[in-house]
Amino acid sequence: MPDQSSDIVVIGGGIVGLATALHFGRAFPRLRLLLVEKEDRVARHQSGHNSGVIHSGIYYKPGSLKAKLCVEGAAAMTAFCREHAIPVEICGKIIVATSAEEVPRLQGLLERGQANGIAGLRLLDQAQVREIEPHCGGVGWLQVPGTGITDYVAVCQKYADLIVAQGGTVSTGTEVTGIARSNGQTVIETSRGSLGTKYVINCAGLHSDRVSRLAGEKTEVTIVPFRGEYYDLVPEREHLVHGLIYPVPDLRFPFLGVHFTRRVGGGVDAGPNAVLAFKREGYRRTDFSLQDALGTFSYPGFWQMAAKYWRSGAGEFYRSFHKPAFVRALQTLLPEIRSSDLVADGSGVRATAVSRDGSLVDDFQFVCSQNVLHVWNVVSPAATASLPIGREIVRMAEQGFGLELR
Ligand SMILES: Cc1cc2nc3c(=O)[nH]c(=O)nc-3n(C[C@H](O)[C@H](O)[C@H](O)COP(=O)(O)OP(=O)(O)OC[C@H]3O[C@@H](n4cnc5c(N)ncnc54)[C@H](O)[C@@H]3O)c2cc1C
Repeated sequence: MPDQSSDIVVIGGGIVGLATALHFGRAFPRLRLLLVEKEDRVARHQSGHNSGVIHSGIYYKPGSLKAKLCVEGAAAMTAFCREHAIPVEICGKIIVATSAEEVPRLQGLLERGQANGIAGLRLLDQAQVREIEPHCGGVGWLQVPGTGITDYVAVCQKYADLIVAQGGTVSTGTEVTGIARSNGQTVIETSRGSLGTKYVINCAGLHSDRVSRLAGEKTEVTIVPFRGEYYDLVPEREHLVHGLIYPVPDLRFPFLGVHFTRRVGGGVDAGPNAVLAFKREGYRRTDFSLQDALGTFSYPGFWQMAAKYWRSGAGEFYRSFHKPAFVRALQTLLPEIRSSDLVADGSGVRATAVSRDGSLVDDFQFVCSQNVLHVWNVVSPAATASLPIGREIVRMAEQGFGLELR
């Protein structure tokens, strides 16, 4: 364990915790800053198991934090990658209406995107879409030319390097197991001993609700994990996808529906779906944790959510276990796709915050209580938006802790 005493401890070495620590270091260079991560390296969970997309911000409610920080974050992420020679490509996205009923929703997305200030959006006819994505199916198309792709693991590693270069400490292999107040300071118990600090930022992703409870916070939400499984397109069929091809999403859910994503390092992903996971960090279908499953099933909000959305949840399970159903969903976007074109790939698990009334929390959520700031529901597009999210957290901490930290 490094220095046993710090001014501020950030819990979680995912992209949000790292971006937060980076901003703290920049804004308050004299602050003794420590970031603790339980795994042996940064970006081991959501930040290292995602689609790598720099979202433009088209989906999110105008005025929401997601909308504002995503639009700003997309530009900031692209600039950051270019500045630090991290691979980045603005490959553009096509959103596909697969039936006549979806066409008005495409128009709704266009208007939402324009309200969010996204440039270059346009509805396409068949001839126009053929020029961009010649193999794309559907009956209506919206082009989002500014969407990009990058490597978020490389971004996280660069954030960590910059934190250290600014004088901060990144301590991997350090799990927080307790948080207590003692003699006016906060004592954090970790797997490598205890340390004292003045302020804590909880960016623990899939465990952010548990870390909040460790700090004595009565949480309004519980994290329900949803696994997203991917297939890989076999190399000989990659030519079918030029950029990103997405369906029209059901905006009741924070999931976008299975889609095709070109990877910045090569290859094309198909997915992810959104299946209830029985383990918070369980990347295989068979992964099970009694503690995590009990945590989900004993939560009244889970049953309220299940009552509302059981039909779409059952559909996701069916597509998870039945590849032909997964392939049929993809064929609505790309009719030429066959089961033999797809090989099972990895997965990621989303930390979805569910309220007591069973609603899925829509926006990013931040709660400041005494000297701990809790970060919940920083789901997609939080990787895209990580730089402005980090800046906002520093601003909220400054106000919430009621202190001039400089
Ligand atoms: C399948 C999938 C696809 C996605 N695609 C995209 C995309 O294309 N574009 C986009 O912008 N966003 C995407 N996202 C969302 C994005 O990846 C997440 O919003 C983002 O990574 C969240 O970062 P985080 O730092 O909050 O969480 P995490 O990356 O999960 O980091 C939290 C960290 O906290 C650590 N931790 C937890 N508990 C403790 C403890 N007690 N002590 C110490 N450390 C602890 C964990 O080990 C972990 O490393 C996707 C997410 C998923 C799952």
